[in-house]
Formats: sequence, structure tokens, C-alpha cells
Amino acid sequence: MSNNAPSQKYRASCHCQLITYTVTLSPPLDDLDSWVVECNCSICARNGYLNVYVQNECIEFEGVGLESDMVEKYRFGKQRVQHYFCSRCGSSLMAESIEPGFYEGVKALNVRMFHDVDVQLLQRRQVDGRNL
Ligand SMILES: [Zn+2]
Repeated sequence: MSNNAPSQKYRASCHCQLITYTVTLSPPLDDLDSWVVECNCSICARNGYLNVYVQNECIEFEGVGLESDMVEKYRFGKQRVQHYFCSRCGSSLMAESIEPGFYEGVKALNVRMFHDVDVQLLQRRQVDGRNL
């Protein structure tokens, strides 16, 4: 991430706010070069994920982190990607690869958890995850 590039901090949380975090995105979501991924795979379709992909160091958890028992983990298929959701309110938070060398150090964040973001205004990029 270049120091000169525009960036913005976003606060995000699950519905019950048990899991709360801050994300720094560069470029910001309202930048013309920014977009979110809308994927048609079996889990994205069900959960309505709108994802941005960020380096782990751009995310700061406040209090409860992903390793907590309060965060449920889910894997399926090839078991390479772990999905995280709140055990209390069920919000689908994010996902990451747990296979070394496969998208290591990156998380897919569901921007629907972001505060003060109107997801209707975001540029969407359709990904045909169902057929990948
Ligand atoms: Zn919650």
C-alpha cells in the first residue's frame, strides 16, 4: 500500500456487535477504481456476500477476534477456505484461505458488515464462482 494512495478506515461489525473491527481500504470503496465481488458460488449466493479482498494487516479487531469460541468456523468442499460467522447473531463476516500458499495473508471481507456504507452505491464485479 503506497503512502500517497487514498485510503479510508471503515468500522465494521456483526449485527450484535460482538465482533467489531476496523478495516483500512485503499482505494476507498467510493473510488472509481474500487469494486466489490458478487459471486454466485453456493455459499456467496446464500449469504449475500459482497466481498473485498484485503491483507490481514489492514484489519484490526476490537476485543473478540476470529480465534474466539464466539466465532463459528465453516468449511466445505475442498476445505481450503474457512468462513467465519458470529455464533450469537449469525452474521456472515468474512472468509480466508487456510491452505498455505493459496491466497495466504488475505481475507475476503463482507462489506455488508461495514458501518455507514450504502452497498447499493458500490460498483459490483460479478464472479462466476459456481463454475470455477
Ligand atoms: Zn453477532
